[in-house]
Amino acid sequence: MSKVLIIGAGGVGRVVTYKCAQHPEIFSEIVLASRTQSKCDDIVADVRRDTGHSKMQTAKVDADNVPELVQLIRKFQPEMVIHVALPYQDLTIMDACLETGVHYLDTANYEPKEEAKFEYSWQWAYQDKFKEKGLLAVLGCGFDPGVTSVFTARAAKHHFDEIHYLDIVDCNAGDHGKAFATNFNPEINIREITQKGKYYENGEWVETEPHQISKMLTYPDIGPKKSYLIYHEELESLVKNFPTLKRARFWMTFGDEYLTHLRVIQNIGMSRIDPVNYKGVDIVPLEFLKAVLPDPGELGENYTGQTSIGCRIRGVKDGKERTYYIWNNCSHEAAYKETGAQGVSYTTGVPATLGAMMMLTGKWAGKGVFNVEEFDPDPFLDQLGPMGLPWEERLDVDLEMD
Ligand code: NDP
Repeated sequence: MSKVLIIGAGGVGRVVTYKCAQHPEIFSEIVLASRTQSKCDDIVADVRRDTGHSKMQTAKVDADNVPELVQLIRKFQPEMVIHVALPYQDLTIMDACLETGVHYLDTANYEPKEEAKFEYSWQWAYQDKFKEKGLLAVLGCGFDPGVTSVFTARAAKHHFDEIHYLDIVDCNAGDHGKAFATNFNPEINIREITQKGKYYENGEWVETEPHQISKMLTYPDIGPKKSYLIYHEELESLVKNFPTLKRARFWMTFGDEYLTHLRVIQNIGMSRIDPVNYKGVDIVPLEFLKAVLPDPGELGENYTGQTSIGCRIRGVKDGKERTYYIWNNCSHEAAYKETGAQGVSYTTGVPATLGAMMMLTGKWAGKGVFNVEEFDPDPFLDQLGPMGLPWEERLDVDLEMD
C-alpha cells in the first residue's frame, strides 16, 4: 500500500492514472500533478467515476522548478514519483527526488530544450547520488524504451546464449482521420524523427541521413508496412548492457503523407527550435506548431487500427544459430474505451505503471540509476498481459532482416 505522485497530465499521464487506480492494493493513494491543474482534475474525475478509487488528489506544479517540486513532494510524501511530463524535466525531478528521499521512474531520457539531442549520459551521471541516498531511479519504462528493453532481456535470459543482431520494429497502423498529427507530444516527436538516423554495428555507431534507409516489414495481423531506420534511445543502453550485440537497429513505420508533411514543416522552418522575433515577441517555431497541431491526447475518439511493436533477434543457443520475434499488438479503440486515450499513450502508460508496481513490491530493487533491461524480465512480463498488453513470441521464424 503506497502513495504515488504522477507528474504530467497528458495522454500518458491519463493512462498511468487509470492503471494505478485499477490497482488500489498497491497504489492506495494517488496524486496527479501537472502544469495545468484543470487537466489533472478532468483526468481524476474520469478515473474516479470508472474505478471508484477514493484517495486521489490533484496539484499544480512547474516541474522545471526544483524548489516547487520539493515543496510538492514534502507536502504529499509519496513513496515514488512516476514522471510522465516531458524529457526536459527529467533532471529537475531527479534532483527533487534526491532532496526529498523518494524513488523515481520515467519513460524518456533527458533532452535539453535548446538542443534536439537525447542521450543517457546526463541521467547516468546521477548513479552515485542515488546510490548514496539508497534510492532507486528507473529510466525509460514506457514501451520503447521500456517493454522493448525487457523483451530483449527475456531473449537473453531464456532463449539465447548470446544475442548478436537486434532489430526493434515499431509499427503504428492506426488511422486517426487527421491530415497530420503526432501520437505523442508533437515537439518531442518531431525533434526525435527529424534527427539523423543512427545504428550500432561492430562496436561503432553508423550515422545515416534522416529516413535514408527503409525496408518493407511484415507486422502480425497488420501486413507489410514501409519501415524506416531511425535512432532511438534504448539502443544506447542495450548495446552497453548486452555487449554480445554485433548490430542493433530501430525501425519505425511512417506513411508517405506523414513524411510529406514532415518535409514541408522542415523546409519552411517550422521545426526550428531557436527563437525568432515576431512583432516584438520571441517565438520558437516548433513550440508554436505544437499549439496549432491536434492534441495527441484528443486523438483517441475516432482512432482505429492497432500498433505492433517488438524485437527481432538473431543469435546462438547451444552452438546453433536461431531467430526470435517477440511483440505486442495494441488496439487504439480498446485503449480509448478503457482510458479515453489512444494506443500510443496506452502502450507507454501501462509499462510505466507496471514498472512502478515492480519497484513498490520489491521485484525490481537496487540503489542507483538503472535501465529496465538490468532487472529480471520475468515478473514484469508475467503481469504485462493482465495489465492490458498481451505479448507473443515465436522461435525460428523468418525475421526479414539481413
Ligand atoms: P503530453 O504533451 O500529452 O503531456 C505532457 C504533460 O506534461 C502535459 O500535461 C504538460 O502540461 C505537462 N508538462 C509539460 N511541462 C511541464 C512542466 N514544466 N511542469 C509540469 N508539467 C509539465 O505528452 P505525452 O503524455 O504524450 O508524453 C509524456 C511523456 O511520455 C513524454 O516524456 C514522452 O516523451 C514520453 N513517451 C514515451 C514513450 C515510450 O514508449 N517510452 C512513448 C510516448 C511518449 P500542459 O498540459 O500544461 O502542457
